[in-house]
Amino acid sequence: MIMNDIQNIKKLLSEPKKIAIISHRNPDGDAVGSSLAMYHYLIQLNHTVTVIMPNDLPDFLTWMPAASSILIYENSTKKIGFKIAENDLIFTLDFNALHRTGDKMETFLKTLSIPMIMIDHHQQPENYPLYTFSDVSYGSTAEMVYDFICNLDDKQLINKEIATCLYTGIVTDSGSFRYPLTTPKTHRIVAELVEKGINHSEIHNQLFDNGSLNRLKILGKALQNLVVLPEYKTSYITLTQTELDEFNQQKGDTEGIVNYGLMLKNIDFSVIFIENKYENYIKISFRSQGSFDVNQFARNHFDGGGHINAAGGKSFVSMDETIERFISILKQEKNNP
Ligand code: 5GP
Ligand code: MN
Repeated sequence: MIMNDIQNIKKLLSEPKKIAIISHRNPDGDAVGSSLAMYHYLIQLNHTVTVIMPNDLPDFLTWMPAASSILIYENSTKKIGFKIAENDLIFTLDFNALHRTGDKMETFLKTLSIPMIMIDHHQQPENYPLYTFSDVSYGSTAEMVYDFICNLDDKQLINKEIATCLYTGIVTDSGSFRYPLTTPKTHRIVAELVEKGINHSEIHNQLFDNGSLNRLKILGKALQNLVVLPEYKTSYITLTQTELDEFNQQKGDTEGIVNYGLMLKNIDFSVIFIENKYENYIKISFRSQGSFDVNQFARNHFDGGGHINAAGGKSFVSMDETIERFISILKQEKNNP
């Protein structure tokens, strides 16, 4: 983070302001965790703060401190649009491009002339913000928010609520501290957060051990559908809308399933294709171990992006055609690496 920017932001935050905090569509633990941590920080500086997510939170995040105050843009685009437009400043957290908020919200945000501050760890940030803290070496935006607060000399304001939110962001985006971007510093920060009195066992319980029977059944179906392509060290999973409907799929039910493919020996690329008939596309998640860059793969072939080892994308043709295309791309990439 550039110290000059920090000084300017400190000045900007020295008087009470109306501030909106926005994160990406289909918010995950880091999106909600970093946003609510920022909320609990900014209210202590006497700002009027509103957190807005493009669409609903998954059930496993609704317990978070102040989650019930979050406004959902897609529930009432006009009303919440007015509310967003009233602000003096907007933080955009955990995304690198306005289209990550969805088409409608992107179009709306582009009409605003409110200064924005981006804090994010995805590749290739857009240049819409006035101040940009973008650093792909961080495993989570939550860890960046911790540094942001410290850089503003406000470390003493990190309370139990902020610690709970930051811990949630870090633990979810690091795959419970296992992904390569987890550093000694990550663990030192987490140690400090635990010292704030957070209940880490309860947080894990809420995040990972509080699911529905249907969620487990969807996982069961996904594992039945898993296909291994040993020649490409790849495995993939499909879930059709019919299969999801059979188990009354709820938001968040498919979260994390893609990682199961990587549990296999000699597999370092794992993909899940999830059909969404209501929005007319197939949502794809890519995960890798080692040097295979799924961000590039998603960008090149599936209208997406993300990080080296975790990315997402979309396909607008049928499941069968998508799989056919996917396999032909693997073939092609193997022949012309
Ligand atoms: P997930 O597979 O969990 O949806 O996403 C994995 C990572 O890729 C996340 O960090 C997410 O922000 C990013 N990502 C997911 N979908 C997209 C997309 O369509 N475009 C871009 N640029 N990033 C994405
Ligand atoms: Mn993140």
